[in-house]
Amino acid sequence: MNNSPSVFAKKTLTKKELANIRKNVSRSNFVEWLKHNYHAIRCYHAARPTNIDLYFDNGFRPSDLQKSFASFEILLKEIGYKGPVDVQETMELFEGKSNRFIYFILDDYDFIDLAPHYWIYGSEFMLCLAQNTAYHIKEHLRNTGTPTIFACDIPFSEIDDRELLSLHDRILDATGTIEQMRNNIFSNYSIIIEGHLDGAYISGHAHPTARVYDAHDSRYYTNHTQTCSRCAM
Ligand SMILES: [Zn+2]
Repeated sequence: MNNSPSVFAKKTLTKKELANIRKNVSRSNFVEWLKHNYHAIRCYHAARPTNIDLYFDNGFRPSDLQKSFASFEILLKEIGYKGPVDVQETMELFEGKSNRFIYFILDDYDFIDLAPHYWIYGSEFMLCLAQNTAYHIKEHLRNTGTPTIFACDIPFSEIDDRELLSLHDRILDATGTIEQMRNNIFSNYSIIIEGHLDGAYISGHAHPTARVYDAHDSRYYTNHTQTCSRCAM
């Protein structure tokens, strides 16, 4: 091991390390090199939990679509919605994806400027159900739970090597200042995990308060809930 921090992360990657990878690490050796020099990679996941402890205690799991639909039905009952519900299209769209994988990204800023809907609405599945049912239901999703961005230091043993290979291409292509290079490398990069991820890998969490554009409501949105039961711990 060298003196690098043992988590490969956007915020700590140095110009020197980048130069070293470019000069000495081939694409075919890149994942091995990562595993040798770091034990984990910093990833982010956004949600809108009503009970954040469940993430710390039970970890991250793919969605149970039937269960999610059941909670959607409870929501409809609570708000007195009596119109038609067409769940088929949404189920088909998410079947084999959200019920099989958990999605992480490598740059938490993407949750502010590219994809805030994960923490504005809590889940793409619920958002889609709401959109296909009645426009005003989305407002209720926006008022349930606490917007949260989780940081997770995921060990490489939990990640398929193929998920990491494009990082090497991005490192070779990155240009500009170190900040621009970090953006080139980490922005808009997803890491897909199949199955379960232990909550012990959560290394931090935050409640975003930036004013963001909500494309699903065609207006700006600001979260005002800045703390949760875990913030004080
Ligand atoms: Zn908190």
